[in-house]
Amino acid sequence: MKRVYLDHNATTPLHPEVLEAMMPYLTEKFGNASSVHSYGREAREAIDEAREKVARLIGARPEEIVFTSGGTESDNMAIKGVAYLMRERGKGNHIITSSIEHHAVLNTCKYLEKKGFEVTYLRVDKYGVVDLDQLVDSITDKTILITIMHANNEIGTIQPLEEIGRIAKERGIIFHTDAVQTVGKIPVNVDELGVDLLSLSAHKIYGPKGVGALYVRRGVRLEKLIHGGHHERNRRAGTENVPGIVGLGKAAELAMKNMDEEREHLWNLSERLKRGIMERVEYVYQNGHPEKRIPNTINLSFEFVEGESIVLGLDMHGICVSTGSACTSGSLEPSHVLMAIGLRPELAHGSIRFSLGMGNTEEEIDYTIEKVAEVVERLRMMSPLYADAIKERRGRS
Ligand SMILES: *Cc1c(COP(=O)(O)O)cnc(C)c1O
Repeated sequence: MKRVYLDHNATTPLHPEVLEAMMPYLTEKFGNASSVHSYGREAREAIDEAREKVARLIGARPEEIVFTSGGTESDNMAIKGVAYLMRERGKGNHIITSSIEHHAVLNTCKYLEKKGFEVTYLRVDKYGVVDLDQLVDSITDKTILITIMHANNEIGTIQPLEEIGRIAKERGIIFHTDAVQTVGKIPVNVDELGVDLLSLSAHKIYGPKGVGALYVRRGVRLEKLIHGGHHERNRRAGTENVPGIVGLGKAAELAMKNMDEEREHLWNLSERLKRGIMERVEYVYQNGHPEKRIPNTINLSFEFVEGESIVLGLDMHGICVSTGSACTSGSLEPSHVLMAIGLRPELAHGSIRFSLGMGNTEEEIDYTIEKVAEVVERLRMMSPLYADAIKERRGRS
């Protein structure tokens, strides 16, 4: 069966050119980048080149890039790194984040609460945009870090980071962003956004899994989490994942080259998908900001049906989507993001995230529209809730 992959916010396929770039470093160029001989130098040069490419993609300097094992580690390194150092220096123990962060940020903050830090989880509006008044109001002289994601992985909403960056800078507070869902998809420039720390991950941009980076602005100090050798300018110990880093570098280069074209392609496809479904299916609502969103992500609530049933129904037709973040699907709790934007639990449970990628075509989108309509109709026909609700609504109008 032909498969249609619409779950790129969970992970992306490896770009063939990325695989090609990595291959020599999985085979004959196996050196340890710390070695002095030619094998070592070969690996070191490859890492340096990748560092330049990643830096270029986000408007940073190469020495401000620390390679990590992925977005999760980058988030941990940034948040715990600032928290531990600032507490030790007696600067405070208060962190501000949002209620719709990825679990890599949320659970790190919850852990720090148990260790005596105080955390404010900012409200968001119905589109998932953080409340800037509440941000300003919650800042105290104990505030050491603001960590707000750039775009949300479930609903795609982009946050006003420039404004948050200005607020943080005025008050002298360190500002971190989880930009895993924006880097490579929309222009990201660390100076324009005013961020001090920024997390990114390779496998969300057609690179390999298990590698990412943290941007650390020159002058920003972090407590180290991984102790050992003096790798990554003494910021993260461990023999470098050379093939992974080379893959991330190539993915960054390709993202930069293809961005304008891909943005338009993905925006058009995702709008086509949304329009098509809304024309064919009743009682469907879009979650997230209709315009201020990353171009590949559409989140829809289908009233009277379970999102999990839609996922399974579409999977039988080879269409791969998800109910929200890969980390929460399979659990019975409704998504914390959808609850935070104020959805009723029933609607939150009936939500589907379509996250598109560079390989998707109009034909795939049209096939998906067709099958979504079919699956949702079939599920609703079996739902007593639907029958009752329709009778009642039709009676009222
Ligand atoms: C996927 C994702 C992460 C985690 O990145 P990994 O490389 O999978 O650890 C963090 N934040 C966001 C917003 C993500 O989408």
